[in-house]
Amino acid sequence: MNKPKIVILGAGYGGLMTATRLQKSLGVNEAEITLINKNDYHYETTWLHEASAGTLHHDRARYKVETVIDRSKVKFVKGTVTGIDKENKVVNLVEGDYQYDFLVFALGAESETFGIKGLKEHAFSISNINSARQIREHIDYQFATYATEEEKREDRLTIVVGGAGFTGIEFLGELANRIPELCKEYDVDHNSVRVICVEAAPTALPGFDPELVDYAVNHLTSRGIEFKIGTAIKEATETGIIVGKDEDIEEIKAATVVWAAGVRGSSLIEAAGFEAMRGRVKVDSNLRAPGQDDVFIIGDSSLVINEEVNRPYPPTAQIAMQQGETCAKNLTVLVRGQGELEDFTPDLKGTVCSLGEHDAIGVVFGKKVTGSTASFMKKMVDNRALFMIGGPSLVLKKGKFNIL
Ligand code: FAD
Ligand code: NAD
Repeated sequence: MNKPKIVILGAGYGGLMTATRLQKSLGVNEAEITLINKNDYHYETTWLHEASAGTLHHDRARYKVETVIDRSKVKFVKGTVTGIDKENKVVNLVEGDYQYDFLVFALGAESETFGIKGLKEHAFSISNINSARQIREHIDYQFATYATEEEKREDRLTIVVGGAGFTGIEFLGELANRIPELCKEYDVDHNSVRVICVEAAPTALPGFDPELVDYAVNHLTSRGIEFKIGTAIKEATETGIIVGKDEDIEEIKAATVVWAAGVRGSSLIEAAGFEAMRGRVKVDSNLRAPGQDDVFIIGDSSLVINEEVNRPYPPTAQIAMQQGETCAKNLTVLVRGQGELEDFTPDLKGTVCSLGEHDAIGVVFGKKVTGSTASFMKKMVDNRALFMIGGPSLVLKKGKFNIL
């Protein structure tokens, strides 16, 4: 009898968690498992703000996929997915096609620009290793160029961060650490640098605990970050951004604009004809696409409703990894044709948001934490993700131990 073909798209948190759990639960003869990913490495999306600011080398935030998979059970294919043909159960790659019996879609998120003019052309986004490396290089280059300019371009060292959500705030925390180092390295007066965060909502970190939000904003302000709250980015141009507050429109000239104001699911979701909201499919309780018993969608391209507040859970690595575990259990049941499918219920431990290397804010198991305690917890969360996928050896290789 032919072995069922399981094809997993994406070696991020959700995809790798599914693959590493499946290689434990299924025997070699039970299924043919293929994991497809654009790169031969996994990157820690949750560390990209550090790589983007240059406070952590990008190589620290990635590892080879093959170091965590059992090649006798999982075949790894380095390839770029371009489409899904649901009727014929085929995945299209730039490199060729793959047939599946069961599909796991875990291709993560894309930057959401809400159709704002000029953003795609003139702003960076913190999305993957390539974009993080590009942001770091671009900022370094602005400092190096400023040092050589006879007539200094005033906005050369102005950095605008769009959005004070968790990504924006964590990136600002890293910039607050990195800027003094850059000033020293390139003999630049700190007063020549401006970092401005533009947030459309009436507060930074909308929806988060107000006391912790104040802590974060005060901490970052004391490190020289400027906030423009209740102000929306309307357009990005070659020379900076146009922002609006009420009726007032203003141009902020800046050589660097980083858009960190939201994400959507993969555009391949809509292209494949799945019903979706901003690229996210409202999956059933077993994590399958409605009406598609052979397609699981997990991570940032899935949408799970928090029944308590009747709103979607925010897309996080925490949820993507838990979904990977449930998805692997359910695939094992389907392959064996015995047992009960598991319903997915997120088990949220909390949220910790870093403010640079040694400070953070968070709510963990319902308790508020700040300062070095929160920062310690954030590093433990980062190490836990490594442990869950690659065990203690991966933590030793890639973990964060700079606790003090
Ligand atoms: P990802 O982990 O992003 O993986 C997607 C994979 O698919 C990648 O390997 C990618 O290369 C691959 N891929 C994409 N397109 C293709 C294609 N066409 N073909 C082949 N391969 C492809 N969440 C938390 O819970 N805690 C945090 O502290 C936290 N911090 C964050 C910090 C930052 C800066 C950012 C940007 C996000 C953070 N998040 C955090 C959110 C979290 O990173 C995401 O929710 C999580 O990465 C989603 O996991 P995923 O498996 O869906 O996708
Ligand atoms: P987000 O949607 O959480 O925040 C985006 C912010 O941008 C919002 O505050 C929004 O009001 C603002 N914004 C939107 N349009 C704007 C405009 N035109 N001008 C100015 N501001 C605008 O997005 P994110 O911060 O990228 O986070 C994405 C997901 O990743 C979330 O689910 C988040 O919880 C998760 N995440 C978690 C952590 C953590 O747990 N430490 C860190 C980073 C990201």
